[in-house]
Amino acid sequence: MEKINILGVNVDNVTMDAAVCKVLDFLNEDVPHAVFTPNSEIIMSAYNDEEFCRQLNDASLVVPDGIGVVYASRILKAPLPERVAGFDLATNLIKKLSGGQKSFYFFGGKPGIAEKAKENLLSQYPSLNICGLSDGYYDEEKEKLIIEDIKQKKPDILFVCLGAPKQEKWINKYKNELGAKVLMGIGGSLDVFAGNVERAPQFYRNHGIEWLYRLLKQPSRFVRMLALPKFGLTVLFKGKRLR
Ligand code: UDP
Repeated sequence: MEKINILGVNVDNVTMDAAVCKVLDFLNEDVPHAVFTPNSEIIMSAYNDEEFCRQLNDASLVVPDGIGVVYASRILKAPLPERVAGFDLATNLIKKLSGGQKSFYFFGGKPGIAEKAKENLLSQYPSLNICGLSDGYYDEEKEKLIIEDIKQKKPDILFVCLGAPKQEKWINKYKNELGAKVLMGIGGSLDVFAGNVERAPQFYRNHGIEWLYRLLKQPSRFVRMLALPKFGLTVLFKGKRLR
């Protein structure tokens, strides 16, 4: 599959449909596959952290979570076809496998969030197979228990929702011992499934201004969002990197 190099991060040149097919194919293989969903903020932090950049590039599939990544690919004259948001990819997989063909494990979020996400999803897809849950706040002892639980349940798809770069590092550290076939780092997605955090309305998503909606809802994100113009300028001047 063709990869587009954006500030050193190799993003797969895929549509949403192709990404879904790719993950479904991974489920038929015997080796574990990591799926990462970087947005521009995450790519910017990988640009400043070589180890994290390597970690992202170790994945089997890297999809462009933010519209900023798609714009960056256009600046680089290697346009990605569309945004493939981690939350949407997860939702599409849930829909495809809602008959219970494959099992899901939800790991991450504050205590109670994974439970609420499960409850909401089961009310929509009663046959969905959610085989295990753990919150994402742990010490060394609790982490061991979480790992044991995942190993025992052997989920087909493990959602790891710890935020970046924690989730990517965690997935790479443990992916070979957990028995999960696909391990996806999808940030705050469980909060959205739980109904704790609202997704931007369709209008904002269709016009590539989900960031504006988030900023209006949560002005404290302003400083974090300064990474966006910085990302645009860095792509413009450094392109495929090198620092
Ligand atoms: N989180 C977690 N454990 C931690 C830190 C964060 O489970 O030690 C969760 C947090 O509760 C939230 C998610 O990770 O559900 C990160 O959400 P955020 O929106 O920051 O992630 P993004 O999608 O922007 O990477």
